[in-house]
Amino acid sequence: MVCKVAIDLALDKLFAYSVPGDMEKKLAIGQLLSVPFGRRMAQGFVLELGGDEEAGGFTGKLKSVDRILDEVPFFSPALLELVRRLSAYIAAPIESVLKAAVPAAVLKPGAKPKELMFIAPSLPAKEVEITKRQQWIYDQIVRLGGGWMNQLCVELDTTPATLKLMGQKGLIQIAPRRKFRSPLMNRRILPSKPMRLNPGQQRALDRVFVSSTKPLLVNGITGSGKTEIYLQAIARVLEEGKGAIVMVPEIALTPQTVQRFAARFGDRVAVLHSALSDGERYDEWHRIRSGKARVVVGPRSAVFAPVNNLGLIVVDEEHEHSYKQEDNPRYHARDVAVLRGTIENAKVVLGSATPSLESYRNAITGKYDYVELSERAGPGTLPQTMLVDLNARDGDDNRGGSIYSRELLEAVRDRLARSEQTILFLNRRGYSRSVTCEDCGGTVDCDRCDFPYTYHRADQCLRCHLCGGWIPVPRNCPHCGSSKISYRGIGTQRAEAALSKCFPKARILRMDADSTSRKHSHDDILGAFRRHEADILLGTQMIAKGLDFPNVTLVGVLNADQSLNMPDFRAAERTFQLIAQVSGRAGRAELPGEVIIQTRNSAHPAIKAAAACDFKTFARQELAVREEENLPPYTHLSVVHVKSQDRELAQAWAEMWADALKKALKTFSVSDAMPSAIERADGWYRYQIVVSGLSVSPVIAAWKWLLGAKRVPQSLNVAIDVDAYNLI
Ligand code: ADP
Ligand code: ZN
Ligand code: ZN
Repeated sequence: MVCKVAIDLALDKLFAYSVPGDMEKKLAIGQLLSVPFGRRMAQGFVLELGGDEEAGGFTGKLKSVDRILDEVPFFSPALLELVRRLSAYIAAPIESVLKAAVPAAVLKPGAKPKELMFIAPSLPAKEVEITKRQQWIYDQIVRLGGGWMNQLCVELDTTPATLKLMGQKGLIQIAPRRKFRSPLMNRRILPSKPMRLNPGQQRALDRVFVSSTKPLLVNGITGSGKTEIYLQAIARVLEEGKGAIVMVPEIALTPQTVQRFAARFGDRVAVLHSALSDGERYDEWHRIRSGKARVVVGPRSAVFAPVNNLGLIVVDEEHEHSYKQEDNPRYHARDVAVLRGTIENAKVVLGSATPSLESYRNAITGKYDYVELSERAGPGTLPQTMLVDLNARDGDDNRGGSIYSRELLEAVRDRLARSEQTILFLNRRGYSRSVTCEDCGGTVDCDRCDFPYTYHRADQCLRCHLCGGWIPVPRNCPHCGSSKISYRGIGTQRAEAALSKCFPKARILRMDADSTSRKHSHDDILGAFRRHEADILLGTQMIAKGLDFPNVTLVGVLNADQSLNMPDFRAAERTFQLIAQVSGRAGRAELPGEVIIQTRNSAHPAIKAAAACDFKTFARQELAVREEENLPPYTHLSVVHVKSQDRELAQAWAEMWADALKKALKTFSVSDAMPSAIERADGWYRYQIVVSGLSVSPVIAAWKWLLGAKRVPQSLNVAIDVDAYNLI
């Protein structure tokens, strides 16, 4: 018999091996094998099985499978189907998708379960002599019903030697037992009971279980009780004997989030999280595959969790961009969830307070089911929101310099006096990407596309990342003539310094990429803030979501424009989402909340709608713009990436491919080849081509044909990002 194996080499092809006779019965699709490859052994997954060597024309040419590394398949037929269809859609080699679907900790050679000595009480066969102390230890072990040797030594203040002696006397049994390393271990979690749903929640829950197989989009404001709906939907799925996956953006995957699921479902919950140790991840994954854990909570890769008989996938904060993987394979976990739901006949629930326009449009066209929740379920009301136009501040003499408006400083002072807490949010997205006028707040835009140019430092020019056109960096603002045009945003450190100057006595915590690089400091900072060990939390988008601080009554957005001016057609959408999410942080408990948004674009529809928490108005206006300009969700936009350590080589091939794609894709819009905004990273020169049109498959077909038509030099690294989120 012959089997075909995917080996992790990104060659986008399967390798045939012959199966030794004694292995034939045990071999199954989806298993992990060890196979000879070149002069070494490699690991690979069996994807095809059957046929004999003769019929395949392989007689005598094939190497044999070395051994089966794990008889339980890593991929069910349904999961393999998902991997295949995803790999075809995003034009990524199948083995790269297989690899992304299983945690590295599980595939690492030598990864194995942990076994520890477990002690169980037993009845000695005959009368044994025993000390008073041993009798006491024995009684405790009986009372506890047994335990791990290392823990008992601590709890009963004894030693392994003593326990072994007792074992020899037949008082206890000592044997190795598999121990699951769980991230929830040693944490006391109080069980929670289902809450009585309000009518809106009940309606949403009912919609999860209507007969329709469509995904359900739950558009519910922050605090409207979406999580409680997920919990009750999962409970019902578990009752039916099925499993569930809950996807949460990495950043919102805090202990509090996990706790809410663990409190309801106990050890049926498994967590997959990038902060887990390898051992924990290995064990959690195996608990899922074995069916011991039936509810998986995790970030985007959790969409591949080996849950059998899957009944439900929840994608919380479905609009979050972290669901898009920006490395190969470049998949969007929300879209993968929808695909998996279709394949496995599982219900998919997408939840958000600010749905993506992609999903919202699917709801409008009837592709998705849709329900809205417009009231808070728990205590608290929506905050008061105020826009402060920084343009009107010119000449104002405030001590915060250009960073803080007088209104915001007064509001902070007020909170300090009342011993309430403040969150200040500094938007750093697109930092130093677009060119903004410090006087009027305007950007320099491409004439052809009406789209902000991206600043390219290497050759001091501005490039349009939609069409590839470029101009030299202008000296003056095209709108107001000012010479104060800049590529810089405000940094968190500068904002912190200015704040301390205004409030020397205030306790300020800063949270940004720098301050959270240590493993736990993210949780540490938030924990400290929750315990009111600080008055003000100043941070980047990291603090924008998922957090629930009862004592926070003021949220300030320092520079709403930073994301608005991004050279990204989703800039307005991102800005709306950010402001709406940040605002959701204020006034979640009894105390009323206030939100102050500083902007130079107070008339911009996205800012106005965000301040009014009016998703629908925003969505209607923005969808009209996208349709008018042939942008997603009305089209599919993909980016071809070409990189090499040889600049000329990358450029020449990118230009050749841009021309070829233009010819092959007549009804599509194909940009010129252009350097990426960061032209050179790690010694690699990066070029890109943007392709957009009504569908994806012709683009993939043309691209694959081009790759096959002419041998691509080894020193060139190429990939396509289908439905791209990142244009720079
Ligand atoms: P969301 O996920 O939509 O942001 P949550 O599920 O976190 O909302 O709910 C917000 C708050 O409301 C939580 O403190 C939650 O315990 C509470 N809550 C949710 N549903 C109910 C309900 N039916 N009755 C009372 N309180 C509720
Ligand atoms: Zn200007
Ligand atoms: Zn352009």
